[in-house]
Amino acid sequence: MKVIPRDQHCISRKNISDGALKVMSRLRQADHEAYLVGGAVRDLLLGGHPKDFDIATDATPEEVHALFRGSRIIGRRFRIVHVRMGREIIEVTTFRGHHDGEPSTRASKVKGPSHRSEQGLLLRDNVFGTLEEDAVRRDLTVNALYYDAANFAVYDHVHGMQDMERRSVCIIGDPDERFREDPVRMLRVARFAAKLEFDIDEDTAAAIPRCAHLLREIPSARLFDEFLKLFMSGYAERTFDELLEHNLLAYLFPDSDYELRRNSVAMALVRAAMRSTDIRIQAGKTVTPAFLLAALLWPVTERLAEQLRERGDAPVAAMHSAGQQIVAGAVTTIAIPRRFSLPMREIWEFQLRLQRGDSRKARELLQNRRFRAAYDFLLLREEAGEETGDVGGFWTEFQERPENQNLPMIDSPSDSAEDGGGRGRRRRPRKRRPTSP
Ligand code: ATP
Ligand code: MG
Repeated sequence: MKVIPRDQHCISRKNISDGALKVMSRLRQADHEAYLVGGAVRDLLLGGHPKDFDIATDATPEEVHALFRGSRIIGRRFRIVHVRMGREIIEVTTFRGHHDGEPSTRASKVKGPSHRSEQGLLLRDNVFGTLEEDAVRRDLTVNALYYDAANFAVYDHVHGMQDMERRSVCIIGDPDERFREDPVRMLRVARFAAKLEFDIDEDTAAAIPRCAHLLREIPSARLFDEFLKLFMSGYAERTFDELLEHNLLAYLFPDSDYELRRNSVAMALVRAAMRSTDIRIQAGKTVTPAFLLAALLWPVTERLAEQLRERGDAPVAAMHSAGQQIVAGAVTTIAIPRRFSLPMREIWEFQLRLQRGDSRKARELLQNRRFRAAYDFLLLREEAGEETGDVGGFWTEFQERPENQNLPMIDSPSDSAEDGGGRGRRRRPRKRRPTSP
């Protein structure tokens, strides 16, 4: 284990939250080890501001829980303790140990075996261990650095510091084995490469094509959770590139992946939606997955709707049932909750109404709660080079007419603070101005 003393790294206690410092100091007072770990250490070393502070300790979840009033033990696959400190929630994790009968050097704390499926998938992981054992169970070397707030040292058991310096995303241990244990780690590799703007280590990257098919075993709900982290964190466009490069998008959206690789307009639309999501997050505006999902699934929905129209369905009916079928197909892979799939389908169905350009109905459409999102989506389609009859300009101009300035506008999904949102202020509708009665 390498110990990096305080004068050889840039972490300062000043940048660590009071809550995290308090939790660590109380654990130490109770004769436990306690370290800042994972993303927080990584982001502090990169000079960033961690969004949360995770702590690793040798205390069991029960011991942690007993030390902190207002703490809760949560999780099944990994049991962790949430400690409330004022407005902060600090996540405290007990060191994890080895599996499969490898002897832990902490035999007294072993609380039952871990479980694997026949394919080597890790099902349960509550064997406790030491810091060294905990380090090698983590996913990436740069996510396995430990900071001791008592002596200001960083502990490195897996060449994490070296990989920070060479800006490399590198799996700890044998990549094939670690991907087999948990295939989602492949998505995490892509995500951190995009987030940190690091390169993927050669051996790590080489294992992805061998293991990618294992992502089919991942429950659809976990894939949707991962989708939110991949695309709603402010670096969606770079993440998208990584997923495409490593052929991983196909395990989230198989039909879209197929279509996007053949259809440059569809590709441009998805990129534009990703970019606009990233820009909104940077600006502190709220975002919703519904909009991004609308872009990702639009090309396949449009294609199906076209087939239905050729079969004789009316345009509105065709779009409606295409939307229904595409969602039904997509959720077998990735569990899109209805609170996102419904607004997504409304955005699609609204496209036809916008494209009809019926000016008698225009004022009514303007007041619809989906207008803003549908209009934004229309502009992205035009930007991507889709043929819409250029109606975007009509709607831009129509909204600016004085008689439309004081209409009650419009709760678009790109303004709602559902999951993946909640980043700061509500956006004010762009075109609305204060009016005097
Ligand atoms: P972010 O800033 O995006 O939250 P993070 O590094 O904190 O990044 P989390 O998903 O919050 O990422 O996970 C916390 C830590 O838990 C990681 O740094 C890593 O050490 C460990 N970890 C998370 N997921 C896995 C996994 N699937 N396999 C092994 N270790 C994992
Ligand atoms: Mg985290």
